Amino acid sequence: MPLIALKAQVHADPQTEAVLKDAMFCATKVYNGLLWHLRREYEETGKVDISRKNLNRILKELPRAKGYYSMSVQLTRDEVREAYRSFFALKKKGIKQHEAPGFRRKGCLSPLKYVQSGFKIDGDRVTLSLGTGREDGVKQVSFRISQRPDVEYDRVRELSIIYDKVSGRIEARLMVEVKPCENNGTGKVAVDLGETILMACVFDDGTVLLYSGRMIKAIRRYWQKVRANLQQNSRRWKQVAHLEKKQVEQLLHVATSHFIAECVRRGVKEIAIGDLNGIREGIDYGDRLNQRLHTWPYRKLVNMLKYKGALVGITVRDDIDEENTSKTCHACGTVSSSNRKHRGLYVCSCGWKAQADINGALNIYEKVYQVSPVKGSSGRVTRPAVVSFLLGWHGVAEPKRRNKALRASA
Ligand SMILES: [Zn+2]
Repeated sequence: MPLIALKAQVHADPQTEAVLKDAMFCATKVYNGLLWHLRREYEETGKVDISRKNLNRILKELPRAKGYYSMSVQLTRDEVREAYRSFFALKKKGIKQHEAPGFRRKGCLSPLKYVQSGFKIDGDRVTLSLGTGREDGVKQVSFRISQRPDVEYDRVRELSIIYDKVSGRIEARLMVEVKPCENNGTGKVAVDLGETILMACVFDDGTVLLYSGRMIKAIRRYWQKVRANLQQNSRRWKQVAHLEKKQVEQLLHVATSHFIAECVRRGVKEIAIGDLNGIREGIDYGDRLNQRLHTWPYRKLVNMLKYKGALVGITVRDDIDEENTSKTCHACGTVSSSNRKHRGLYVCSCGWKAQADINGALNIYEKVYQVSPVKGSSGRVTRPAVVSFLLGWHGVAEPKRRNKALRASA
């Protein structure tokens, strides 16, 4: 059964809100407490023991661990283990900027996580169990949540209560099981993600849909410039980052909803997307943070496709190794990075000329499904039928005037 993530607003009276915040504060204290003990152990012994046994032993010394639900405490413990694991992995790889997992700072509240137990949802009413040893004696709290009305789900598998530092609001994240729609389609589509062309999508019949990434690019550039003049992580900086995120997300919703609707119309059952390592577009992202910042809209986009797809019975594969798909000529198979000519056009000496992202998407398709949607049995390659779309706040539109690169590929 497909799982999808839902965001929900929390509506709680001030008293309940204070209790929730206090429970989150306990979770932060527990997180930091575990880190503190691990660091001290490291100083004394030169080793970090992140076994459950050792962490459980430390938990017994942390009084705040009784301030929230016992299973959630174990999930906080697992968060610490996860942080250390990825730290070890980076260290092993020899990546320079590694640092031991850091303490959660003032103003940052750890999430309260519930998996399968400790919570009850009845309509829009949520009841949460808290710790058995809270100073205020509160054992459980109850409040109302609201989320997007168009998703019907069978069961809530996971629930997290989160504090959004920027807005100062408490939010809920739900992982819900949904009944997938009947989908008798057999179609497939390959998607190449990029900056100028957000998505180049190739269907079985050789049809190509292009979603322009220009507006998202412009928004990101604009806010980045605004942010450049602000002190990093200041209040205003965070507000700006939040605005940028909201605007980009809105456009991603528009694009993904339109594309999924097209997939349904064309009987698609599976979407194949290249891994996000392929997204660089010639810019050198020195450190990992920059790379992360750069790829977040794509990670977000893939997640949107996953959950919107799940609702209509379409599976999304995002594990395809993109290596060379942008450099390979789809017609003759020559691998040459110099073939990627300016204005996003891929030109090969064999005579093949195509918009570079279309060429990439065709290669992803062939890589995954071992057949090309535009190659005949004789090996002759036909030009794909291309439809391009501009993204607007309220929907997608076909551009009136096609730019040269697109015209050349059509
Ligand atoms: Zn060629």
